[in-house]
Amino acid sequence: MQSPHEALAVAMRAAIEHIEGLDRRPIGPTVDAATLRHRLGKPLAAAGTPPEQVVTDLIAAVKDGILGSASGRFFGWVIGGALPSAIAADWLTSAWDQTAVLYASGPAAAVVEEVGGAWLKDLLGLPQRASFALVTGCQTAHSVCLAAARHALLARRGWDVEQRGLYGAPPIRILSGDQRHGSIERAVRFLGLGTDNLRSIHLEELDSILNDEPSPPTVVLLQAGDINTGAFDAFETVIPIARRHGAWVHVDGAFGLWAAASPRFRHLLRGVEAADSWATDGHKWLNVPFDSGYAFIADAGAHRSAVSHRASYLTHASDARDPFDWNPEWSRRARGFSTYAALRELGRDGVAQLIDRCCRHAHALVMALAQLPGAELLWEPIINQGLVRFLDPAPGAAEADHDRRTDQVIAEIVASGEAFFSATTWHGRRAMRVSVCNWRTSEQDVQRAVDAARNALISARIAVHEESQRSVAC
Ligand SMILES: *Cc1c(COP(=O)(O)O)cnc(C)c1O
Repeated sequence: MQSPHEALAVAMRAAIEHIEGLDRRPIGPTVDAATLRHRLGKPLAAAGTPPEQVVTDLIAAVKDGILGSASGRFFGWVIGGALPSAIAADWLTSAWDQTAVLYASGPAAAVVEEVGGAWLKDLLGLPQRASFALVTGCQTAHSVCLAAARHALLARRGWDVEQRGLYGAPPIRILSGDQRHGSIERAVRFLGLGTDNLRSIHLEELDSILNDEPSPPTVVLLQAGDINTGAFDAFETVIPIARRHGAWVHVDGAFGLWAAASPRFRHLLRGVEAADSWATDGHKWLNVPFDSGYAFIADAGAHRSAVSHRASYLTHASDARDPFDWNPEWSRRARGFSTYAALRELGRDGVAQLIDRCCRHAHALVMALAQLPGAELLWEPIINQGLVRFLDPAPGAAEADHDRRTDQVIAEIVASGEAFFSATTWHGRRAMRVSVCNWRTSEQDVQRAVDAARNALISARIAVHEESQRSVAC
């Protein structure tokens, strides 16, 4: 029998080397897809390969194709890094190889989720009576929360959606502001609610909309941390209105809900605890490795009715929490271990400091970028997200030129390997999106990223200059 020792030792060496080398290597990939395909895409051999050889070969084949998203100078999308204890707990999760379906199939995995769920509710200021599920990400958390909403809203109208499905049921409408994340749309599709029933409104008009058309079962979707700006809906005013009309309030707080863990930023979430369901992520701001998301539901009965299942061959616990009663998956990874580890590594104060530090760095970074020649501030961070764009210096440059210039500068920064940003279109304009959610990001990282942007502006200017000379030449 093969000993696992060599394969795991090779993996550990490579993992530590990867993490310790983050400051030295380019952040973006430096190989193309064809090279990766050439290295990895061998015909599957008939004979097997010793485990340590498999791991050694894999490490060599993916070289330079691993995005440096764990680096402190990675500001693209909203990704976050991974805390050391959370990575270690994640390795053990694989070694222990529990299937966290039932208490019976993973006793410690079930209890660690019980404890982690209670800690999370406490940190995020959510009601302790709320039920929860540890899922793959915020997208799946939306699906679980909206399945519970679907159950509750239709049950009130005498409709058993689990049994009868949606055929003939009263349509459920979902009202939100205009900046909702695409994962909501996908959850709505998966649940058969139909994207035609998603409606963007001005939330100030919610009361009159619900007064004018009181009958359709309604979900009001609110945002804790807009994807581009990190902005928050006005929970304190909107939630009571929705509740008064019997609507279900769901909060997308993929990263923004974490502001509740900081005494400094908690005020942005005032009133959020009165919602019906909340979705957030562990793999973004808590810095747990992918994948890790959390769903919380105030009405535990609705959650359980939407999700749980009984089967004669399963051993259901009477004195412990079976994840199966709350999770949409059947077999599943025991992802509670890494969440538990991250929360213990940081402690309550450490989580607050992580949030505050990321917000401080985001602010410093965005404001310094906005000072660069030709840069324009589009959104000053409230929390950890900001927007800048880069203006085309040519006289008479139009919006399309500024858009192009912004994309070009971002590409230059990424190509330098020094920092990583991603682009977005915000109110019709291209912008560089700055997101700081890595525990590792330091002041030096902020400085290096600003320097990288300054250098990119210089090389972008040269590129523009060369292009205009070329167009003169021909
Ligand atoms: C990332 C994100 C999501 C989707 O979360 P996943 O964990 O990727 O499924 C949803 N909403 C917002 C605001 C996000 O930033």
